[in-house]
Amino acid sequence: MKQAGLSVFQDTAANLIGRRTGRNRRLTPIWIGSHTDTVKNGGRFDGTIGVIAGIEIARVLKDNHLILEHTLEIIDYTAEEPTEFEISTVGSKALAGNLSDDMLALKDGGGRILGETIREYGGDSDTLLQAARNKGSVKICLELHIEQGPVLETAGNILGAVSGIVGIRHFLVKVKGRADHAGTTPMTQRLDALAGAAEMILALEKISSRRPDPASCVGTVGRITVSPNAANIIPSSAELNFEIRTLDGQLLETLSSSFTLACRDIAARRDLTLELATLSPTDPVFVDPGIVNLIKKACTLATDHCQEIASGAGHDINQLACFAPVGMIFVPSRKGRSHCPEEYTDPRSIAIGTEALLNTVLEINKRTPA
Ligand SMILES: [Zn+2]
Repeated sequence: MKQAGLSVFQDTAANLIGRRTGRNRRLTPIWIGSHTDTVKNGGRFDGTIGVIAGIEIARVLKDNHLILEHTLEIIDYTAEEPTEFEISTVGSKALAGNLSDDMLALKDGGGRILGETIREYGGDSDTLLQAARNKGSVKICLELHIEQGPVLETAGNILGAVSGIVGIRHFLVKVKGRADHAGTTPMTQRLDALAGAAEMILALEKISSRRPDPASCVGTVGRITVSPNAANIIPSSAELNFEIRTLDGQLLETLSSSFTLACRDIAARRDLTLELATLSPTDPVFVDPGIVNLIKKACTLATDHCQEIASGAGHDINQLACFAPVGMIFVPSRKGRSHCPEEYTDPRSIAIGTEALLNTVLEINKRTPA
């Protein structure tokens, strides 16, 4: 950041910020940011390319002696990925004023407290509120990120102008039956919790596969705990985490109620007890259509191969959208792989994405009256 001519500092949430002051100090700053933390055993591209792209843009502006009207801030947001403290997007939550005292008091497995850890990394949890931004205090938050899925590669495209980030509905489902001897209990007299849960899993798969565009909606069971989990005992209980994701808020509601209904039917038919809890929902985040169009144009200047795309993964902009307009550009992930060592994006695609991001910044700057 320093080599790119930026003045570098950290805010109280340990977000790392590199600033290039603009000509008109009354204007709100343009932000370009992403994250440099990774998941365990993750790849080298998720997040990092977005911070590098921002620094590269600052360097290009410096080398070409270009001063923008707006101040440009390149940000490495603190801890975007799920942390040992069970929460993610720590830095952007603080910026949005959504990092509560309860969250700051969270402990990891080794007894470390989140608030103290933020201080170790250069922040100050006592004055954390100072990191929060008011609505309208930032012109726009931009991010370049890898797609983390196969849609761009499958379509033969290099850039995606992100139209929004999907909403998520989480369900914690407990199915209770009865433990019996696996050898002596006839099939007609069983209350098999796992067999019932299996039907629910398939119901979710069916409900979320019915869309004409297969990428527009997904449903997953990522965790199941069976009890007593013994080879010769009929399972007495199964606990499962279900989730449904789509950008369409109305569809999210419809599919959630179809799924809930299906679970109740299955449980009733099999004489099983059902406990179904809805965990805290994440609503879809939409990028303003005017910004999507502006970014699409900026992408078209860099390549003919671009499209609009929804993000199936959450990002810092979920939080940033609370106080500023947001915009995002995706570059392809090879074979759609991410959060694994095989994660890869062609450096040429990253260069084209960075060019599109610069075009976006220049266009926003041009539209600002001098
Ligand atoms: Zn990321």
